[in-house]
Amino acid sequence: MKTIGLIGGMSWESTASYYRLINEGVKENLGGLHSAKIVMVSVDFAEIESLQMRGEWSKAGQILSQAAVSLQSAGADFFLICTNTMHIVADQVAGAVHIPLLHIADATAEVLLKEGVSKVGLLGTAFTMEQSFYKGRLTDRFGLEVVVPSNEGRKVVHDVIYNELCLGVIEPASRTAYIREVEQLQEKGAQAVILGCTEISLLVAQADSSLPLIDTTSVHAQEAVRLALD
Ligand code: GLU
Repeated sequence: MKTIGLIGGMSWESTASYYRLINEGVKENLGGLHSAKIVMVSVDFAEIESLQMRGEWSKAGQILSQAAVSLQSAGADFFLICTNTMHIVADQVAGAVHIPLLHIADATAEVLLKEGVSKVGLLGTAFTMEQSFYKGRLTDRFGLEVVVPSNEGRKVVHDVIYNELCLGVIEPASRTAYIREVEQLQEKGAQAVILGCTEISLLVAQADSSLPLIDTTSVHAQEAVRLALD
Protein backbone atom coordinates (compact mmCIF):
# COMPACT_ATOMS: atom_id res chain seq x y z
CA MET A 1 0.00 0.00 0.00
CA LYS A 2 1.27 3.49 -0.87
CA THR A 3 1.42 6.28 1.70
CA ILE A 4 -1.05 9.11 1.13
CA GLY A 5 0.01 12.67 1.95
CA LEU A 6 -2.68 15.13 3.04
CA ILE A 7 -2.41 18.90 3.31
CA GLY A 8 -5.30 19.56 5.65
CA GLY A 9 -6.78 22.10 8.00
CA MET A 10 -8.70 24.05 5.33
CA SER A 11 -10.85 23.62 7.23
CA TRP A 12 -10.17 20.85 9.76
CA GLU A 13 -13.91 20.06 9.62
CA SER A 14 -13.46 18.64 6.13
CA THR A 15 -10.01 17.16 6.82
CA ALA A 16 -11.67 15.01 9.47
CA SER A 17 -14.01 13.73 6.72
CA TYR A 18 -11.03 12.93 4.49
CA TYR A 19 -9.33 10.96 7.27
CA ARG A 20 -12.48 8.94 7.91
CA LEU A 21 -13.36 8.37 4.24
CA ILE A 22 -9.84 7.24 3.28
CA ASN A 23 -9.65 4.80 6.18
CA GLU A 24 -13.14 3.48 5.42
CA GLY A 25 -12.13 2.99 1.79
CA VAL A 26 -9.02 1.00 2.71
CA LYS A 27 -10.98 -1.10 5.19
CA GLU A 28 -13.64 -1.81 2.58
CA ASN A 29 -11.00 -2.97 0.11
CA LEU A 30 -8.64 -4.90 2.39
CA GLY A 31 -10.89 -5.83 5.29
CA GLY A 32 -9.93 -6.79 8.84
CA LEU A 33 -7.76 -4.35 10.73
CA HIS A 34 -6.38 -2.68 7.62
CA SER A 35 -6.18 1.11 7.67
CA ALA A 36 -4.65 3.73 5.42
CA LYS A 37 -1.02 4.80 5.53
CA ILE A 38 -1.34 8.56 5.84
CA VAL A 39 0.96 11.43 6.63
CA MET A 40 -0.63 14.82 7.15
CA VAL A 41 0.38 18.43 7.58
CA SER A 42 -2.52 20.46 8.93
CA VAL A 43 -2.18 24.24 8.57
CA ASP A 44 -3.78 27.06 10.56
CA PHE A 45 -6.76 28.03 8.41
CA ALA A 46 -6.99 31.54 9.91
CA GLU A 47 -3.58 32.33 8.34
CA ILE A 48 -4.62 30.91 4.98
CA GLU A 49 -7.99 32.68 5.03
CA SER A 50 -6.46 36.09 5.69
CA LEU A 51 -4.05 35.59 2.76
CA GLN A 52 -7.04 34.59 0.58
CA MET A 53 -8.92 37.75 1.54
CA ARG A 54 -5.89 39.89 0.71
CA GLY A 55 -5.34 38.04 -2.57
CA GLU A 56 -1.86 36.99 -1.45
CA TRP A 57 -2.08 33.63 -3.18
CA SER A 58 1.58 33.04 -3.71
CA LYS A 59 2.29 33.51 0.02
CA ALA A 60 -0.43 30.96 0.76
CA GLY A 61 1.15 28.78 -1.92
CA GLN A 62 4.48 28.99 -0.09
CA ILE A 63 2.89 27.70 3.11
CA LEU A 64 1.30 24.79 1.24
CA SER A 65 4.55 24.14 -0.65
CA GLN A 66 6.41 23.80 2.65
CA ALA A 67 3.71 21.40 3.77
CA ALA A 68 4.17 19.36 0.59
CA VAL A 69 7.94 19.19 1.15
CA SER A 70 7.30 17.90 4.69
CA LEU A 71 4.93 15.24 3.34
CA GLN A 72 7.54 14.15 0.82
CA SER A 73 10.24 13.91 3.53
CA ALA A 74 7.84 11.94 5.73
CA GLY A 75 7.45 9.31 3.00
CA ALA A 76 4.25 10.23 1.14
CA ASP A 77 4.10 8.61 -2.31
CA PHE A 78 1.60 11.19 -3.60
CA PHE A 79 -0.43 13.95 -1.99
CA LEU A 80 -3.77 15.74 -1.84
CA ILE A 81 -4.62 19.35 -1.07
CA CYS A 82 -7.82 18.83 0.96
CA THR A 83 -9.69 21.86 -0.38
CA ASN A 84 -10.98 22.88 -3.78
CA THR A 85 -10.18 26.57 -3.34
CA MET A 86 -6.50 26.17 -2.62
CA HIS A 87 -6.03 24.36 -5.93
CA ILE A 88 -5.66 27.93 -7.11
CA VAL A 89 -1.98 27.40 -6.18
CA ALA A 90 -1.86 23.74 -7.27
CA ASP A 91 0.90 24.31 -9.82
CA GLN A 92 3.08 26.20 -7.35
CA VAL A 93 2.68 23.50 -4.71
CA ALA A 94 3.10 20.58 -7.13
CA GLY A 95 6.25 22.25 -8.45
CA ALA A 96 7.86 22.23 -5.00
CA VAL A 97 8.08 18.41 -4.79
CA HIS A 98 8.77 15.32 -6.87
CA ILE A 99 5.79 13.31 -5.63
CA PRO A 100 2.58 13.77 -7.69
CA LEU A 101 -0.42 15.86 -6.65
CA LEU A 102 -3.82 14.22 -7.04
CA HIS A 103 -5.83 17.19 -8.35
CA ILE A 104 -9.37 17.40 -6.94
CA ALA A 105 -10.89 18.76 -10.17
CA ASP A 106 -9.43 15.91 -12.24
CA ALA A 107 -10.82 13.26 -9.91
CA THR A 108 -14.20 15.00 -10.05
CA ALA A 109 -14.23 15.38 -13.82
CA GLU A 110 -13.46 11.68 -14.30
CA VAL A 111 -16.56 10.78 -12.26
CA LEU A 112 -18.75 13.22 -14.22
CA LEU A 113 -17.59 11.84 -17.56
CA LYS A 114 -18.24 8.29 -16.37
CA GLU A 115 -21.77 9.36 -15.40
CA GLY A 116 -22.30 10.80 -18.89
CA VAL A 117 -22.61 14.39 -17.63
CA SER A 118 -21.66 17.14 -20.08
CA LYS A 119 -23.16 20.21 -18.37
CA VAL A 120 -22.57 20.59 -14.65
CA GLY A 121 -23.40 23.09 -11.92
CA LEU A 122 -20.70 24.20 -9.49
CA LEU A 123 -21.09 25.29 -5.87
CA GLY A 124 -18.06 26.38 -3.86
CA THR A 125 -16.30 29.46 -2.56
CA ALA A 126 -16.46 32.61 -4.68
CA PHE A 127 -12.86 31.88 -5.73
CA THR A 128 -13.83 28.45 -7.03
CA MET A 129 -17.08 29.56 -8.69
CA GLU A 130 -15.65 32.70 -10.30
CA GLN A 131 -12.01 32.11 -11.20
CA SER A 132 -10.72 29.96 -14.03
CA PHE A 133 -8.37 27.59 -12.15
CA TYR A 134 -11.25 25.17 -11.52
CA LYS A 135 -13.98 25.86 -14.09
CA GLY A 136 -11.35 26.33 -16.78
CA ARG A 137 -9.71 23.03 -15.96
CA LEU A 138 -13.06 21.20 -16.19
CA THR A 139 -13.76 22.82 -19.53
CA ASP A 140 -10.32 22.80 -21.16
CA ARG A 141 -9.15 19.37 -20.08
CA PHE A 142 -12.44 17.48 -19.89
CA GLY A 143 -14.84 19.35 -22.22
CA LEU A 144 -17.40 19.98 -19.47
CA GLU A 145 -19.75 22.96 -19.62
CA VAL A 146 -19.92 24.59 -16.18
CA VAL A 147 -22.72 26.78 -14.81
CA VAL A 148 -22.62 28.70 -11.52
CA PRO A 149 -25.26 30.52 -9.41
CA SER A 150 -26.21 34.18 -9.87
CA ASN A 151 -24.22 36.95 -8.11
CA GLU A 152 -26.59 36.79 -5.17
CA GLY A 153 -26.56 33.00 -5.04
CA ARG A 154 -22.76 32.87 -5.13
CA LYS A 155 -22.59 35.25 -2.18
CA VAL A 156 -24.95 33.09 -0.12
CA VAL A 157 -23.03 29.91 -0.93
CA HIS A 158 -19.65 31.54 -0.18
CA ASP A 159 -20.76 33.13 3.10
CA VAL A 160 -22.25 29.90 4.43
CA ILE A 161 -18.90 28.15 3.81
CA TYR A 162 -16.77 30.65 5.76
CA ASN A 163 -19.27 31.78 8.41
CA GLU A 164 -20.84 28.41 9.18
CA LEU A 165 -19.42 25.21 7.67
CA CYS A 166 -15.73 25.92 8.33
CA LEU A 167 -16.73 26.63 11.94
CA GLY A 168 -18.71 23.40 12.24
CA VAL A 169 -22.06 25.21 12.25
CA ILE A 170 -24.88 23.43 10.38
CA GLU A 171 -28.04 25.51 9.81
CA PRO A 172 -31.17 23.96 8.27
CA ALA A 173 -31.98 27.35 6.66
CA SER A 174 -28.64 27.23 4.83
CA ARG A 175 -29.42 23.72 3.60
CA THR A 176 -32.67 25.07 2.15
CA ALA A 177 -30.79 27.95 0.51
CA TYR A 178 -28.26 25.54 -1.04
CA ILE A 179 -31.00 23.28 -2.39
CA ARG A 180 -32.62 26.34 -3.96
CA GLU A 181 -29.31 27.03 -5.73
CA VAL A 182 -29.11 23.41 -6.89
CA GLU A 183 -32.62 23.74 -8.37
CA GLN A 184 -31.67 26.95 -10.14
CA LEU A 185 -28.60 25.29 -11.61
CA GLN A 186 -30.87 22.49 -12.84
CA GLU A 187 -33.07 25.13 -14.51
CA LYS A 188 -29.91 26.39 -16.26
CA GLY A 189 -29.47 22.89 -17.69
CA ALA A 190 -27.09 21.29 -15.21
CA GLN A 191 -27.35 17.47 -15.26
CA ALA A 192 -25.47 17.23 -11.95
CA VAL A 193 -24.01 19.61 -9.38
CA ILE A 194 -20.45 19.55 -8.04
CA LEU A 195 -20.28 20.16 -4.29
CA GLY A 196 -17.02 21.97 -5.02
CA CYS A 197 -16.05 22.82 -1.48
CA THR A 198 -14.95 20.09 0.86
CA GLU A 199 -17.32 21.18 3.67
CA ILE A 200 -20.58 21.23 1.67
CA SER A 201 -21.26 17.55 2.28
CA LEU A 202 -21.51 18.38 5.99
CA LEU A 203 -24.64 20.38 5.08
CA VAL A 204 -26.18 18.77 2.00
CA ALA A 205 -26.64 15.10 1.18
CA GLN A 206 -27.80 13.33 -1.96
CA ALA A 207 -31.11 12.62 -0.21
CA ASP A 208 -31.81 16.39 -0.22
CA SER A 209 -31.87 16.61 -4.02
CA SER A 210 -33.19 14.70 -7.01
CA LEU A 211 -30.29 15.98 -9.14
CA PRO A 212 -27.04 13.99 -8.78
CA LEU A 213 -24.67 15.75 -6.36
CA ILE A 214 -20.96 15.07 -6.80
CA ASP A 215 -19.23 15.42 -3.45
CA THR A 216 -15.62 16.41 -4.13
CA THR A 217 -14.44 15.29 -0.67
CA SER A 218 -15.70 11.79 -1.22
CA VAL A 219 -14.53 11.59 -4.85
CA HIS A 220 -11.05 12.87 -3.91
CA ALA A 221 -10.75 10.48 -0.95
CA GLN A 222 -11.92 7.49 -3.02
CA GLU A 223 -9.45 8.26 -5.78
CA ALA A 224 -6.69 8.49 -3.16
CA VAL A 225 -7.64 5.03 -1.90
CA ARG A 226 -7.65 3.64 -5.44
CA LEU A 227 -4.18 5.05 -6.12
CA ALA A 228 -2.81 3.91 -2.77
CA LEU A 229 -3.95 0.33 -3.42
CA ASP A 230 -3.12 0.32 -7.14
N1 GLU B 1 -12.65 23.66 1.99
C1 GLU B 1 -13.13 24.65 1.12
C2 GLU B 1 -12.93 24.28 -0.34
O1 GLU B 1 -12.96 23.13 -0.65
C3 GLU B 1 -12.99 26.07 1.46
C4 GLU B 1 -11.94 26.47 2.41
C5 GLU B 1 -10.78 27.05 1.68
O2 GLU B 1 -10.85 28.22 1.33
O3 GLU B 1 -9.83 26.34 1.42
O4 GLU B 1 -12.82 25.11 -1.19
